[in-house]
Amino acid sequence: MHVKAEHCRRIDVRRWQREGILQDGRAGGWQWTDPDTGKQMAAIGYRANGSSVTLNYSIDGKPTTQIVWLTETACNYGGTRQWFTCPIRGERVAVLFLRAGRFACRHCQRIAYGSQSGDLCDRAWRKQAKVEAKLGPNWARPKGMHSTTRERLVSIILECEERRDAALSGYLDAMLRRYPSLRSDPLLRMR
Ligand SMILES: [Zn+2]
Repeated sequence: MHVKAEHCRRIDVRRWQREGILQDGRAGGWQWTDPDTGKQMAAIGYRANGSSVTLNYSIDGKPTTQIVWLTETACNYGGTRQWFTCPIRGERVAVLFLRAGRFACRHCQRIAYGSQSGDLCDRAWRKQAKVEAKLGPNWARPKGMHSTTRERLVSIILECEERRDAALSGYLDAMLRRYPSLRSDPLLRMR
């Protein structure tokens, strides 16, 4: 349900141009509706200012303003085609997605997910530290603890370690996509 809603929060410059939303001075609201029920799921405000469009929306109840710059290219058959400029890397894109608190292109949002894996990592560490505190040094079974309890705690620790590994390699993959030159870094060659 959550994922579905996230996926719908995309804006397509072709549609916005077609509907006249990007005309200088135009302001209004844009909403996403559930294709099954027709119910509104999310909405943003927009104001077109010639070379940019200002988006207003709220993230976790906090009002947010984002300026997205527009660029134009000439069409083969006359007229111009408008594009959004991705606020992260400045590339020309047709579609922006709202994720991680701001609109950006699909590629840059994937990298933002990579930095979220840092949080996942921290959480796994904290959980592991809590469990380890219940055990003796080197995960030894403290006096009075049942051996099945120790086994259960150790398996939680191993699960935390696995989760950290997965989060880390997800982060590394995202960094390598963003900075391909890192591939030749001796530190990473071991991967
Ligand atoms: Zn981008």
